[in-house]
Amino acid sequence: MAELVVDLGENNPSVERDDSKCVYCGMCKKTCKVPVCINCGQCANFCPPEAIREKKDFDKVKEIIKNTDKIVVFSTAPAVRVALGEEFEGKDGEYVEGKMVSAIRKLGADYVLDVTFAADLTIVEEASELVNRIKNNGVLPQFTSCCPSWVKFVEMYYPEFTKNLSTAKSPISMQSAMIKTYFAKVKNINPENIISVVVAPCTSKKYEVKREELSDASKFNGLKQCQDTDYSITTRELAEWIREENIDFYSLKESKFDDLLGKGTGAGVIFGNTGGVMEAALRTSYYYITGKNLPDDKIEFHAVRGMEAIKEASIEINGLEVNVAIVHGIDNARTLLEKIKAGEVTYHFVEVMNCVGGCISGGGQPKITLLKLDETRLKRIDSLYSEDERLTKRLSHENPEIKEIYEKFLGEPLGEISEQLLHTEYFDKSDLLKGRI
Ligand code: SF4
Repeated sequence: MAELVVDLGENNPSVERDDSKCVYCGMCKKTCKVPVCINCGQCANFCPPEAIREKKDFDKVKEIIKNTDKIVVFSTAPAVRVALGEEFEGKDGEYVEGKMVSAIRKLGADYVLDVTFAADLTIVEEASELVNRIKNNGVLPQFTSCCPSWVKFVEMYYPEFTKNLSTAKSPISMQSAMIKTYFAKVKNINPENIISVVVAPCTSKKYEVKREELSDASKFNGLKQCQDTDYSITTRELAEWIREENIDFYSLKESKFDDLLGKGTGAGVIFGNTGGVMEAALRTSYYYITGKNLPDDKIEFHAVRGMEAIKEASIEINGLEVNVAIVHGIDNARTLLEKIKAGEVTYHFVEVMNCVGGCISGGGQPKITLLKLDETRLKRIDSLYSEDERLTKRLSHENPEIKEIYEKFLGEPLGEISEQLLHTEYFDKSDLLKGRI
């Protein structure tokens, strides 16, 4: 086996390896940038013989559907729908939302919901937090926290920056907390009978959902502690399951997500690519600072788009110059952190995604051959931006379901219930590095 320093053994919830398949090509070593695993799964993406691959969880979900009376609720992340078709010989980046929902229903889901809803919720909380930090001399820059590999990287390698991470949970973690509280209440389902399954482009989400602190719904409900998200499966696993069940993906009729927690805006959709979280947050921060929505022709922030490793922009909102940076790829994130540490650059808000291009090329997405790497990434990104353009609602705080949920359940952004269910904490995990670097 090509020697990879990171631990891909039993305790790794994201990836595993089969030494007998290794052909000693060394691709994993070239891909991996850290001595202690941050669960991103990029080594699995670039391992030609699949000696390294994601840990499979879909068979456990399959078992639950077949042999129990649990209510199985699926939620799909934005990047899945622009890549799943590639597993069935569809065009690169093709937008297959309707067929994806139908396929999941056929697999036995009781409900199919959309993580773009929770991406909007994340933006409402994260933008409120940003404005709060700016107005009240809070710790800046605020870092996005929706990428668990990035969060773990900060906790292990730069613990002095954990206070910079937004306390807003990632969209999938908000989604599951809402499923086991509000959704369960409205649908009159015992939350203990719900299995929340997330379909993500990401192997790192398998690690995130096991973080002990992400069990707020059970605490809120006064029930025995259990994780908010039960399983996270990758796009590739979903495709494997669809094939196992002999479902002809492209002959499926399209269907829609279920209603509650099932609708997102264009801002939620672009969460799947580099620059998308920043753009979504700027759209909503503008509203929180000025009290007005951006005019339609100013909704797009092209300065934060594109594949440049580190992008910087200054956006003027009501006389306030908001300085932002967007970075993708963990090496680039390290470079930026060092510059911030040295005082060479200052920002209000920084978006970081571990994977190049963002979640569209996450460690659990359909594999891309090296020759088509950039081309396919761009096609997936274009597909998400096209969907944002097509949608009439493009501002997270204008999502009608979000407005209703704050009125009926959450109260207000950063309010008591929001803090309890939608925010989290981070820890100094530098101990994990002892003896490794
Ligand atoms: Fe997962 Fe997205 Fe982070 Fe990649 S960028 S590790 S896919 S959350």
